[in-house]
Amino acid sequence: MIIVMRSGAPAEEISRISKEVEADGLEAEKIIGEHKVVIGLVGDTASLDPAQFKDISPWIEQVLRVEKPFKRVSRDYRHGEASTVEIPTGNGVISVGENHPVAVVAGPCSVENEGMIVEIAQRVKAAGAKFLRGGAYKPRTSPYAFQGHGESGLDLLAAARDATGLGIITEVMDTADVEKIGAVADVLQVGARNMQNFALLKKVGAQDKPVLLKRGMSATIDEWLMAAEYILAAGNSNVILCERGLRTFDRQYTRNLLDLSAVPVLRTLTHLPIMVDPSHGTGWSQFVPTLAKGAIAVGTDSLMIEVHNNPAKAMSDGPQSLTPDQFDALMADLAPIGTAVGRWEKATAAVG
Ligand code: PEP
Ligand code: MN
Repeated sequence: MIIVMRSGAPAEEISRISKEVEADGLEAEKIIGEHKVVIGLVGDTASLDPAQFKDISPWIEQVLRVEKPFKRVSRDYRHGEASTVEIPTGNGVISVGENHPVAVVAGPCSVENEGMIVEIAQRVKAAGAKFLRGGAYKPRTSPYAFQGHGESGLDLLAAARDATGLGIITEVMDTADVEKIGAVADVLQVGARNMQNFALLKKVGAQDKPVLLKRGMSATIDEWLMAAEYILAAGNSNVILCERGLRTFDRQYTRNLLDLSAVPVLRTLTHLPIMVDPSHGTGWSQFVPTLAKGAIAVGTDSLMIEVHNNPAKAMSDGPQSLTPDQFDALMADLAPIGTAVGRWEKATAAVG
């Protein structure tokens, strides 16, 4: 349930109302939107009559039920307003959300060595990326495959951050690693395979760094949003949802089926920012540019693109990785589409 306050409602009145509903055993959360303040109520609201709230204060404009099973992530919970995730980086604060330019995240699947990660970081930055991605802890299907460099991989990411100022996005798989990864990462990635690792969701929800929550490879949109709800319920509302393709019956030509329809669907259901990852979504570098363009056309707020300086030798996901030259070309091709939908930052153009 949400209480929508009239514009100009005094802060004391908002906290008085919050205290009153908390005394009834509900949790009250103050949400400051662009135009209005909303008090979100979570708990057993089923037996409550929205009309009874009207008498609490003349500053209450409306009381509405959030009918969806997910509450805090629901678009209704913010009375229809999109949320923005603000991420401080060495190159200023990057805002990710519906009312901001498309933010591009690029980098290798795995961090391999200092030379490659710094070189890739410099190249993707020059092309307009705002974030460097790269795994130090890798979720691999085979226990014999390269598992990532772990802690030393984090040092390599820190070196790339120091060299470029790019924000760092890297995956966390284990609750025990959250703190140490959070010391380097600007955004913690929860991968597709851990989307319903509830212990991990609670843990990343209880710390301050923004979280990138990838969609499980067979997760419904409701399951995905409920997973995000765990993070918000634990106290962290800075969550970005990343579509990265679904497992289907046909894997002959693509690794996954990139669900671009998730973008407009999510837009109606949630206020959270949306990212699309066409690299894992298709599995083949030749299809990545087309799907990246499609993602911008359907309204994504950000893109994740795997880039490697030598894809043929990559320790993971080489076939889906663009070279830095291909990434330059992609960014140049995305600019007119991003501009056409009013979502491209002018300075994002390649500086050569
Ligand atoms: C990755 O980003 O490298 C990754 C493993 O992604 P996903 O969890 O989507 O498979
Ligand atoms: Mn990968």
